[in-house]
Amino acid sequence: MATAIQRTFIVDCPWCKAKVAASESGRAERGGYDEDAGEPYGSKVLVGICPSCKSILVGETDQIGFEGYDSDEDRWSDVVRIYPKPPKVFSSYRIPKVVRDSLTEADRSLQAGANIAACVMLGRALEALCRDILDSVPETTTTTAPAAPAKPKKKIMLGEGIKKLRDNKVIDDRLYDWSQQLQAFRNLAAHPEDITISRHDAEDLQTFVNAIVEYVYDLADRYEEFKSRVDARAKRKKS
Ligand SMILES: [Zn+2]
Repeated sequence: MATAIQRTFIVDCPWCKAKVAASESGRAERGGYDEDAGEPYGSKVLVGICPSCKSILVGETDQIGFEGYDSDEDRWSDVVRIYPKPPKVFSSYRIPKVVRDSLTEADRSLQAGANIAACVMLGRALEALCRDILDSVPETTTTTAPAAPAKPKKKIMLGEGIKKLRDNKVIDDRLYDWSQQLQAFRNLAAHPEDITISRHDAEDLQTFVNAIVEYVYDLADRYEEFKSRVDARAKRKKS
């Protein structure tokens, strides 16, 4: 009897902070032809063990090429880790797509060891948050002068945006400090200088940006819901 060949898959280990060839011990797979969409699909979830620290790793991959359909052979996307430390999930429906997409790209960049790219994406996410929130905040300056002809609206940049978020009390001083750090790293990352950014620093910045997004959207939504329940109860008691 031939000995089974040990299957492996390449995935990011958050403890070793590196891509490792995890030895596969299990998988779930689905695929076929989607009649409605008129195209084939395939996805896999792989379970394995890190060869170095022996921790359990779970990754997900989607089929991006189908033999005999659009490719000479079946091709799969890079495996993205979903356990442990799954990508952060937000609940608010108000979070703009560009913020969500930038955060997803940042996470994938980190898993691929592309720390500079991750910082650029984190800056993009925060800049998009600034634009989304500040475009809906009325300007605080009042003027009695006759209205000037409308100028094309200037897009808010990251540095100005985070200051305005603090001035409008959307974020507090601590979140403002984190935002300033992110801006500094983003500026370094966006210019073609010879720099390195450690994974440790990039991961911390990711945690800060996630916290800001959660604070500005998810927690604000949750508090509104909580408050309307409390108010409704108080009204019922009165009547
Ligand atoms: Zn490991």
